[in-house]
Amino acid sequence: MAAQIDINELHWLLDIVQNIDVGVVVLDLDYRIEVWNSFMENHSGRILSEVSQQSLFAVFAEIDEAWFRAKAESVVLLGTRAFSIWEQRPYLVHFKSYQPITGVEAFMYQNVTLLPLRDSTGAIAHICVVIYDVTDVAINKRQLELSNDKLQELSRTDRLTGLANRGYWEERLTEEFARHQRYGGRLALMMLDIDHFKRINDTHGHAVGDQAIKALAGVIKTHVRNADIAGRYGGEEFGVVLLDTGVEGARLLAERLREAVEAMRLDVLGTPIAFTISIGLTDLSVPLGNHEQMIQQADKALYESKHAGRNRVTSFVQRLD
Ligand code: GH3
Ligand code: MG
Ligand code: MG
Repeated sequence: MAAQIDINELHWLLDIVQNIDVGVVVLDLDYRIEVWNSFMENHSGRILSEVSQQSLFAVFAEIDEAWFRAKAESVVLLGTRAFSIWEQRPYLVHFKSYQPITGVEAFMYQNVTLLPLRDSTGAIAHICVVIYDVTDVAINKRQLELSNDKLQELSRTDRLTGLANRGYWEERLTEEFARHQRYGGRLALMMLDIDHFKRINDTHGHAVGDQAIKALAGVIKTHVRNADIAGRYGGEEFGVVLLDTGVEGARLLAERLREAVEAMRLDVLGTPIAFTISIGLTDLSVPLGNHEQMIQQADKALYESKHAGRNRVTSFVQRLD
């Protein structure tokens, strides 16, 4: 009767191992496959008789053999478990995933546990590899990260122009200013503002005003380098932080920008509309205490451009009095 129960129990256990929704593989100490449950059959497309007594590394060429051996050897030697998690190694064996989510790799993310199996004498002659499908968790986490990146991007971007918004732009200027304080080098700042913008708004309406702001942002984007930091500072005022640039280099760019805007025409219901910009420049060839002073200097130079008749570039000149 007792033997009967044992056989029943063994039968149930085998049933459970067969049908449980994790991968179970038992290996001998030469990494030959001895047990291979239906999870493994279903996902690999190979039945036990095809893989039985074959080396795990022959069946799954994608396994990093040296890494796996090192883990398995410690399991046998120490008689303790070892783990591998998807954040460090996305999978042990490459199984397809049927998650209908676009933009994310379609493979099964896996956590893996290696267990030492003792025989009746207590010796460890087998290792059990348990493979957990954690694709749901991994995809959720990845998508959360993507949405967070997207949110951060949105919170930094000006909606109308796609440039940095004022908050983020000032943050970046502060960073570059601090970097300059520490490491030196060159840093220039350009502030620019559309001339007589109120007239554009008053004559053609706010929508055309917006169109002018967008068009100017487009010209700025095509003229600055990728590393430079262009932002919308206010309504129709923009700032560009120019890395590794002095005021003379900034002036070349400013003149090119000024000319490009002057030559540009907005198409307003078939009528070409022109506008100009005024620019103020400064750099850190004379040291300053903080980034706000830098903005003030560039603004002052911008004001001088306006005062001198607009559509021009002025560099801030330090007056030593
Ligand atoms: P100046 O040559 O001295 O710069 O003259 P200006 O008319 O451009 O004067 P100012 O720079 O002070 O004018 C800014 C105007 O821009 C005031 C405001 O009505 C308008 N404005 C601010 N933000 C926006 C915006 O997002 N869209 C539009 N269409 N207009 C804006
Ligand atoms: Mg203006
Ligand atoms: Mg303005």
